[in-house]
Amino acid sequence: MGKLRRQTVLLLVILFTLGSVALSTQAGGSVQNVILLIGDGMGFNHITAARISMEDGAYAKLNLDTMPYTGFSITFSSDNLATDSAAAATALATGYRTENGRLATLPDGTAVQSIMLKAKERGLSTGIVTTASLTDATPAAFLVNADSRTFERTIAEGILNSQTDVLLGGGADAFGINPFTREPKARAILHQALADGYVYVQDREGLLGVEITPDLKLIGLFMGGNMSFELTRFSIEPTIAEMTARALDVVGQNPEGFFLMVEGASIDKTSHSQSTAEMIGDLLAFDQAVGLALDYAKAHPGTLVVVTADHETGGFGVTSGVPSGEVVNYGWLSTGHTAAMVPIYAFGPGAEQFTGTLDITEIGVRIAQLMGITDFPAVLEKGQNEE
Ligand SMILES: [Zn+2]
Repeated sequence: MGKLRRQTVLLLVILFTLGSVALSTQAGGSVQNVILLIGDGMGFNHITAARISMEDGAYAKLNLDTMPYTGFSITFSSDNLATDSAAAATALATGYRTENGRLATLPDGTAVQSIMLKAKERGLSTGIVTTASLTDATPAAFLVNADSRTFERTIAEGILNSQTDVLLGGGADAFGINPFTREPKARAILHQALADGYVYVQDREGLLGVEITPDLKLIGLFMGGNMSFELTRFSIEPTIAEMTARALDVVGQNPEGFFLMVEGASIDKTSHSQSTAEMIGDLLAFDQAVGLALDYAKAHPGTLVVVTADHETGGFGVTSGVPSGEVVNYGWLSTGHTAAMVPIYAFGPGAEQFTGTLDITEIGVRIAQLMGITDFPAVLEKGQNEE
């Protein structure tokens, strides 16, 4: 009896230990899914102007305004107070500060690993949604290493090689799509992806109708280059919220979890041209995607939503007006990026980690910690990811 009892105790100890190990491996595990939304160029006044444009004027609430934890991000790059989107996306994706123009590479050319590819290595599903070309700097820094954001063909190949589960945005030209037939040209690099099992959709209808099957890999290319601004969007182009919803349908199937990055790229592009109405249109469209991400996170505990910007564009300001929004005056300081701090918003497990004033490189590092990824940031072997 005594022996049996000792064995039982021993067995219980073993089971308990195993249980603890299982808990702790899962335990970075407070966060299973990550939705990172980047409003490119989105400063505080851009958000203010979009809020005032709503029916209740300055009294209105954006989806962003409902997020419980907020902070500031300092965005400068290693060679410029005003970062570009490549260096800023590198900071967000890899946790390293670099020079303007570089994609997930350090100033000496060393390649560094993105949190999205790290998540992929660990068996999570991954996805990119953008209103820019998929080869544009922000999405590219999450998937490829390049010394320059201008190497579009190499970037497009790198994006396909990453085996990302969902890729939705513009940039059909770079993947070899015929602009008239919307089908891949004879020597399009997309053919390899199709051979690898990707499903290609070319318009809004195709995206909304695509059958979501287990292990689906989906690529949607809705414009030759960047997608249209929301105010002048063609009916064949999905909204950023529609793309986000479909991306969640795909990556949400993985019981291991997912990492999805959603970029509202046209907030920046409309700000370069100081097109206030168009900028507001794209910010409101981006806010719809934020609302959708928050709904998903409320229905799926374990989902962390982080919203931030890569930098401010335009030195934009709401200068005067009335709270109803009937009269609002704006000013622009610049046609480029500025060094202004930008907001961080967070919802979900670990959201309180995104308060205070953070360096832009700290955001991805904190997300990684919450996911239980300890070997991040990480330098890759020099040249490891080069073709
Ligand atoms: Zn820009």
